[in-house]
Amino acid sequence: MSAYIGRFAPTPSGPLHLGSLTAAVISWLDARHHQGRWLLRIDDVDRPRTVPGSADAILRTLDAHGLHWDGPVVWQSTRDEAYHAALAQLRSAGRAFPCACSRKDVLASALPGLEGPIYPGTCREGLSVGRRGRAWRLRMVQRHWVIEDRALGPVGFDLHLLGGDFVIRRADHVFAYQLATVVDDVDAGVTHVVRGSDLLGSVPRQMQLYQALARTPPRYLHHPVVVAGRGRKLAKSSGASAVDPRGATGTLICILRAIGIPGIDTHDAPRGSRAVDALLDHAQRHWSPRQLPVEPIPAATLAPEG
Ligand SMILES: [Zn+2]
Repeated sequence: MSAYIGRFAPTPSGPLHLGSLTAAVISWLDARHHQGRWLLRIDDVDRPRTVPGSADAILRTLDAHGLHWDGPVVWQSTRDEAYHAALAQLRSAGRAFPCACSRKDVLASALPGLEGPIYPGTCREGLSVGRRGRAWRLRMVQRHWVIEDRALGPVGFDLHLLGGDFVIRRADHVFAYQLATVVDDVDAGVTHVVRGSDLLGSVPRQMQLYQALARTPPRYLHHPVVVAGRGRKLAKSSGASAVDPRGATGTLICILRAIGIPGIDTHDAPRGSRAVDALLDHAQRHWSPRQLPVEPIPAATLAPEG
């Protein structure tokens, strides 16, 4: 049996658009190419951001495009117990500390970082008298990280410039994306994480969490994201439209061409639901991350003609 376990973890804040579908295709191909398992997780830890009905729409869209997953779907909203346990472990290891700072406090004393203000370490050595903890942060103990990305090669990070001690449980009691992702990936035995390069900055934070939880991190592959007209990442927040499952074959052909799968132009695919399976079978045999484009993928190239 293959040792590869991959996953796709969409946020149900809207239906799949061309960018998230492309990410799903790439992670599916990489898993199947390695005879691995491909798990599906719905990242609904941030309940206020969840849009009712969108998780179902995501599952239907994946299915229509032949992206069948292994095992039951995991919902982050059912995983609070595991996140609490991880927080307890980090606390007893001295790696998590309560933070009393509001966003305003941090902004007032912080230096600007690459993705926002750098936490100035106000509560790192304990809360001052009269201040109550609101959130939990992870104590950063290693500032510089170098990872070997399977697509990008060696990538260096400065965790301090990325914000320093980062939030793992928010003041509104929602567990932060970084903690939930790492705990879920650990519990599912995920060995390979394949996702868009917009999430590259998460790597050192997640590596720091793996280190603090004494777990082995997965191998990472970050692929180019799909961008709208003016080079901005396609996103639900900027109004990217839902993928229409009825055009699955045409959409899949466009995506496979865009990510460098050879022989798609001449591929003589049958019609109907078998068409997507035939296309994906061809694609997983010819998949290589080395064929990925270097530049972001313009959304316009993924729209089937007619
Ligand atoms: Zn603080």
